[in-house]
Amino acid sequence: MEDYLKKPYKAILFDWDGTAIVSRGAPVDQVIPCLNNLLEKGIKLVIISGTTYNNIAHGQLEELIPAKLSQNLFLGLGRGAFNYGFDKDGKLVMLHQAVPDTEELLKIHKVGFAIHQLLLADYNMLTDIVFSRPNYCKIDLLVAHERGDHAYLTAGELDMVNAVLERHHFAGGMRQLIHTAQEIAEQHGLSLKATTDAKYLEVGLTTKADNVKYFLKNHLFPAGIASRDCAFWGDEFTYLGPEVKGSDAEMIIAEAAGADFFDVSAQPFQLPEEVNGVGGGVDRFLDFMKAQSLHVKNQPSYE
Ligand SMILES: [Mg+2]
Repeated sequence: MEDYLKKPYKAILFDWDGTAIVSRGAPVDQVIPCLNNLLEKGIKLVIISGTTYNNIAHGQLEELIPAKLSQNLFLGLGRGAFNYGFDKDGKLVMLHQAVPDTEELLKIHKVGFAIHQLLLADYNMLTDIVFSRPNYCKIDLLVAHERGDHAYLTAGELDMVNAVLERHHFAGGMRQLIHTAQEIAEQHGLSLKATTDAKYLEVGLTTKADNVKYFLKNHLFPAGIASRDCAFWGDEFTYLGPEVKGSDAEMIIAEAAGADFFDVSAQPFQLPEEVNGVGGGVDRFLDFMKAQSLHVKNQPSYE
């Protein structure tokens, strides 16, 4: 048996799209029983996703997870913006949110628009901006490129973005664009985090790192769960290019040192050194969850 299937964990923090389910809207009848089995054994589960509650299990977790089990289930969503748990009746409750007021949000929008202006005025490159996110802007760098129903990056998308930037004489590719975005934010008096999933440059207050930080500090460490007791699973830990991290790599934070990280993607370009590339997609993750439920002997602990 693989080592990662033998070690019992007390908490599992995992990405949703591409890790727990194949794609958004896919059936959840395989993953939900895995979650319930582990929750029943007192394992804490934390879904860490860039999306919103309605895109996780069709917004039906309240119905799919019995109330006594959901006490051990948490969700860190919206790229760091929202942290949820469940109350005693199994109803979703907001535990913490990092959502700016309108004035502050408009400042973030100005930064997004300034990036758009720079690329258009100096490089004759058109972008689209999504303003409707809670604490960040999404800048579409491949405006003519339809992504279909998949919400995750595909191999080659970063190459396409870098080719477009090069064609417009923007030197240094995505890596430089991330630096430039942060500089523009500083010029606007803001300290923002810029990340990418290749097609989009995202600029805002938080990332998945902030979700992880919140749950470790407020719910896992206080429950006696150390970082070495935690497993992190995702499908986008891979570097997209030099110094350009995939969105799941944001989960690798100093506070999580000693935890185990696993990537299920089929063809990792290159993984951060902390991450074990196990491949196998969603099936590999579900096998791991099933193995955990077989050998974990923790006493249930319902907070
Ligand atoms: Mg994913």
